[in-house]
Amino acid sequence: MAATATAQLIDDVERTTGLTPYGGVLADAAWAEEVRALAEKRGAVLLAHNYQLPEIQDIAHHTGDSLALSRIAAESDADEIIFCGVHFMAETAKILAPHKRVLIPDQRAGCSLADSITADDLRAWKAEFPDAVVVSYVNTTAEVKALTDICCTSSNAVDVVASIPADKTVLFNPDQFLGAHVKRITGRDNLHIWAGECHVHAGINGPELAAKAEQNPDADLFIHPECGCATSALYLAGTGAVPKDQVKILSTGGMIDAARATNAKSVLVATEIGMLHQLRAAAPDIDFRAVNERASCPYMKMITPAALLRCLREGKDEVFVDEETAAKGRASVQRMIEIGNSGGGE
Ligand code: SF4
Repeated sequence: MAATATAQLIDDVERTTGLTPYGGVLADAAWAEEVRALAEKRGAVLLAHNYQLPEIQDIAHHTGDSLALSRIAAESDADEIIFCGVHFMAETAKILAPHKRVLIPDQRAGCSLADSITADDLRAWKAEFPDAVVVSYVNTTAEVKALTDICCTSSNAVDVVASIPADKTVLFNPDQFLGAHVKRITGRDNLHIWAGECHVHAGINGPELAAKAEQNPDADLFIHPECGCATSALYLAGTGAVPKDQVKILSTGGMIDAARATNAKSVLVATEIGMLHQLRAAAPDIDFRAVNERASCPYMKMITPAALLRCLREGKDEVFVDEETAAKGRASVQRMIEIGNSGGGE
């Protein structure tokens, strides 16, 4: 990334989060060489979420969604995991790999969706419905996961809720769009939905999605449901706001497979724009366009080249989850995995 683009990125992050990312390092060949050498010296595996900056994705050993990366972390031989993503994702890696040292290059990289429900909020909500089953989206903190009965991803939220006896009240959090989608599909009246959302990507809205589909009538529409940014699009597709036969609700892995398989010349992508980097690499002849070019997560973009270098040089920032919280959180994730279709490659 050029110096001007880096300065612009830092400005954008500061404006939207009030936080100043680590800067002053260009992702050039010398940077890449130092990153690789330090990772090897530390015995670290570098994991990058799909919404990371392209240069961070390119230098990582593995890219993927948060759950898939956490599973890679758990299965890896490396003692140290460097998780380039947002904080709840690094916590999830720590929950699934409790004996490994997990680092995030900037611990201030939060998530507006995960922050929309705190452990105290959830405790109070549970007190109102003491017999309810709590289902939480993976975009939640470790503390919230520890208070959860079953976690879910967007890929399996319907299956998770359907697995709960029909007479049981369900508390679904934190994403209201995913909750509304699940309620509509399951037809369940006893599903209560927390009013959380990813404020960053509230811009991927119905009129914009419909307008883009109308302007590009031959384009496929790929909607990625993993991150909160796409759940509003998921909801709209379900309501028929855009033609169903052109809409493909896909995991990350599925999106890349579909990009390789499709005959479409152009594809509209409804998710965080970091995903375009991998799609263009997978299918260079297709014209991939973002439904919303502004759908860039500033928290994800806090993992700058400077932040990664600092992490590797200084061993910061380490992610801690206390054992009891980790054990309870792990149980809620394991229950989800047992139900199946957790979308490891999403
Ligand atoms: S895109 Fe939204 S849901 Fe995803 S990490 Fe960023 S703030 Fe959280």
